[in-house]
Amino acid sequence: MADFEERSVDGLRIRIDRLVCVGFENCATEAPEAFVLADDGVVTFVNPETTGRERLLTACDACPVDALTVWDENGRQMVP
Ligand code: SF4
Repeated sequence: MADFEERSVDGLRIRIDRLVCVGFENCATEAPEAFVLADDGVVTFVNPETTGRERLLTACDACPVDALTVWDENGRQMVP
């Protein structure tokens, strides 16, 4: 699998850095419909399209190791 996983949702571009994620699961606790911990101990997307922009931002911001990066529609980095 690639080192990065990306989704575009609601004007946001969200990237999981698979090499940085250590499986604390803060993101999946905040938004379980968007993120789930896979068998390899790294988080992956579930259904971020159903989550809503604010909760996605909150969930990504909850990552203690900055494995989740979010840019807005203008390419401005919002998280971390
Ligand atoms: S909070 Fe960060 S380290 Fe924890 S599972 Fe999510 S992306 Fe990975």
